[in-house]
Amino acid sequence: MNKNYINGKWCDASNKATYQTYDPADLREVTGEWPKSTVEDVARAVEGAQKAFEQWRKLTVYQRAEYLKKALVLMTDRVGQIAQVITKENGKTLKESHGEIQSAVKEMEFQINEGIRLAGETLATEREGVMAYSQRVPLGVVAVIAPWNFPFNVPGRKVVPALITGNTCVLKPATSTPGVGAEFTKLFVDAGIPAGVLNFVTGSGSVIGPALVENPSVKAVTFTGSTEVGMGIHECASKQLTRTQLEMGGKNALVVFADADLEAAADSAVLAAYACAGQWCTSTSRAIVEESVYESFVKLVQDRVAKIVVGKGTDDATTMGPVCGKSQRDGILKAIEKGKAEGAILLAGGNQVVDNGLGEGCFIEPTIFGDVTADMFLAQEEIFGPVLSVMKAKDFEDALEIANGIRFGLSSSVYTNSLDKALKFVEQTDVGLTHVNLPTALKEPQFSFGGVKLSGSGVPEAGHTGVEFFTEHKVAYVKYR
Ligand code: NAP
Ligand code: MG
Repeated sequence: MNKNYINGKWCDASNKATYQTYDPADLREVTGEWPKSTVEDVARAVEGAQKAFEQWRKLTVYQRAEYLKKALVLMTDRVGQIAQVITKENGKTLKESHGEIQSAVKEMEFQINEGIRLAGETLATEREGVMAYSQRVPLGVVAVIAPWNFPFNVPGRKVVPALITGNTCVLKPATSTPGVGAEFTKLFVDAGIPAGVLNFVTGSGSVIGPALVENPSVKAVTFTGSTEVGMGIHECASKQLTRTQLEMGGKNALVVFADADLEAAADSAVLAAYACAGQWCTSTSRAIVEESVYESFVKLVQDRVAKIVVGKGTDDATTMGPVCGKSQRDGILKAIEKGKAEGAILLAGGNQVVDNGLGEGCFIEPTIFGDVTADMFLAQEEIFGPVLSVMKAKDFEDALEIANGIRFGLSSSVYTNSLDKALKFVEQTDVGLTHVNLPTALKEPQFSFGGVKLSGSGVPEAGHTGVEFFTEHKVAYVKYR
């Protein structure tokens, strides 16, 4: 159903306008035609959500959980079908698409239960015969703005905690992945969720985004995407004190000291630099390596990169699919050219893949740059593609300074066998999540997930804070004698 879902009905854009999506593995293939929604469509969706909120908030959390658990069962039943849609629109391998859904299942389960367990406080009072307690109450209508890189599990991580706590939602998927957003929405529709509780509106972020953020009925905006768009949302939302949760870009460092298990460090670098073609927000994009082991580490990474099989996400042999669309591809290739021009040494890749019938798609060779220095574009800016910058560090202090010397602060990792170095690194790394002898990308649903600096703002997603963001605290003082 290539339509919007507004107030319980699948529908076209009010002006019937549409746009097309293309297969990143072959841009000649049109994969869908979707509503190019207008500000009026957004207004209708918010109105529907506002109306539904009055009833939805009155249900007990157990009643709300029943709907969400039904959607979760459907999610588990439909893994194969949803994975196909993720691969078709995003390009990642089918294995990666399955992985995305499996992680969504775990996160959804956890957030449903967090909603059920969500507690207020009861504390002693100064006054005799007065008891006091706090409760958590929902905010109202929440705008959910999702990216294309995790088009399924990011909506899950946002919509589920919002709904379980009694809010209603308007979900806007990225322009390039509306089909995945529609599959997500259908789970709830098929679970019988009341009209207006979850709405789905496709189209351009620059039209729908501001229309959502500026709508006075929207009480919170949860966004995952680029830092630039996130900052614009924050500015716009602040005018009405609308709450924001912004999960944004990263430039994640893997620091390797001379005493580390270099094979394990190289495995970790290659996994997190090239999985999903480098389009994880927690991808490793910088490897900062102690000078004495730099050459050996580079060799180990090159050996592993040589084994990566670039191809269509639907081919079993493929280990790295295309990047998600023409504008991503062109942006990454431009960044690679910039890297070559600024004097970094190209150690692998560096080109679009055009052989083996891949020339019409968005395939980029897994790329390694060496001798990258801290002032370079390659060291500072998120490329969001299969590009790893390897940098030399003199010692612990130098490595830490390089790792922290960027505007982002999402994830980091250190490889060392020294407890002292590991814990000092954990203490001083400026990020929302860090790792010791593990890849930059590892995370689990029971912990909060969010960055610092320009990588994140607001109460983070997941863990206990996943539901926290979507509630206010209401305190009641009660005289009883
Ligand atoms: P993006 O361009 O910022 O888009 C994200 C979403 O915002 C899309 O739905 C987009 O719609 C919408 N949007 C665009 N302009 C808007 C506006 N003016 N107002 C409101 N919404 C607007 O990011 P992306 O390129 O899709 O995703 C890649 C970025 O996401 C990377 O920077 C990555 O690091 C980040 N990311 C962060 C995390 C995290 O948790 N920290 C996780 C995943 C990804 P359109 O698609 O229609 O433009
Ligand atoms: Mg974009």
